[in-house]
Amino acid sequence: MVHYISAMQDRLLQLLPEAKTNVPLAPYTTFHIGGPARYFFIARQKEDLVHAVEAAKKLHIPLFILGGGSNVLVSDKGFNGLVVKIEIQGIDWKQQKDENVRVCVCAGEQWDHVVALSIEKNLFGVENLSGIPGTMGAAPVQNIGAYGAELKDTLDEVEVFNKKTTQFEKLSADACKFHYRESIFKKKEGESLIISEVSLLLKTNGQFRVQYKDIDRYLSDHQIKNLSLSMLRNIILEIRQRKFPDLREVGTAGSFFKNPILRKKEFQKLIAKFPEMPFYELDQDRVKVPVAWILDRICRLKGKTKGSVGAYERQPLVLINTGNATANEVKEFAYEIIRNVKEKTGISIESEVQLVGKF
Ligand code: NAP
Repeated sequence: MVHYISAMQDRLLQLLPEAKTNVPLAPYTTFHIGGPARYFFIARQKEDLVHAVEAAKKLHIPLFILGGGSNVLVSDKGFNGLVVKIEIQGIDWKQQKDENVRVCVCAGEQWDHVVALSIEKNLFGVENLSGIPGTMGAAPVQNIGAYGAELKDTLDEVEVFNKKTTQFEKLSADACKFHYRESIFKKKEGESLIISEVSLLLKTNGQFRVQYKDIDRYLSDHQIKNLSLSMLRNIILEIRQRKFPDLREVGTAGSFFKNPILRKKEFQKLIAKFPEMPFYELDQDRVKVPVAWILDRICRLKGKTKGSVGAYERQPLVLINTGNATANEVKEFAYEIIRNVKEKTGISIESEVQLVGKF
């Protein structure tokens, strides 16, 4: 067995000389949780991605692609395969004939850095998505969204490396099958796709999207009439700061659960039981309900802790590592919440955070 492991290690290191072995993953996640990766490799260029995929294929070992580590819960046992951290950098701004700008961003760039640069260049489209952690490559996976905007609103094209065909391919926004916190990249049909680059179409002349209640309230409370892109960014950063923990101080992966979208029939049962619950009608048959409200007002979970895991006091949708929480503790805490919500409301909620490795 020992011989087998070291032979495998030798072969992997021949194929990927810069790979490291037995690397703790906790420092690479915003939860600060997780055991070691058997092999760990940083892809700094697109070709590195190709080599890593080839190596994993040749040795028949599982591959996991890591971005900013802000939406994962890595098992305490770690990952028994090759973890590839995407650090491919590069941003290219292309003026279009119609005065709009196409920006092509490599997957390893920080999302919020791209937002800040876009605003510096006075380009509209991503300002409401200010302050979201993680990399550009991770953004399309869950179609990041906030304050009435979603990535899909500005996304033009995604470049992927297809593990099956071992080719780089382009996917239009339609082909990405975006929905609320959903995309092809979370589904079986997209499991062979690794995002290497994302193109956005930004506008030189855009409209501010300020109807969302938190922004609207801020503007009227502060009597702001003449808004600029940078003002809107700062307002959003301030609103987020009030509700979400600072990742530099608190271990968390942000919102742990997705807000469920219910069919009208199911929703009607729920609202009859809890008439004061806020809700958002998406169309004739679908209604979105805020899990944070359910966790706070029905399950009374705001600020609740168990061991080293807790539901954040200002936003219970956010689970936090209050000390040295293990992945198992977080998982158990989350499952308890899922059961609690089911018992009290009858609805099933799902994790937004991806579980990595064996639990
Ligand atoms: P919030 O403003 O308290 O809203 C809670 C829920 O109500 C969300 O599902 C939100 O939908 C929905 N909602 C509020 N106003 C709405 C409207 N006018 N129309 C339709 N739906 C409406 O949420 P929060 O926890 O403070 O978070 C602030 C924003 O950051 C939210 O947009 C949230 O989705 C976003 N966020 C995104 C991520 C992510 O992309 N992974 C993580 C954390 C927070 P929406 O979710 O569609 O806004």
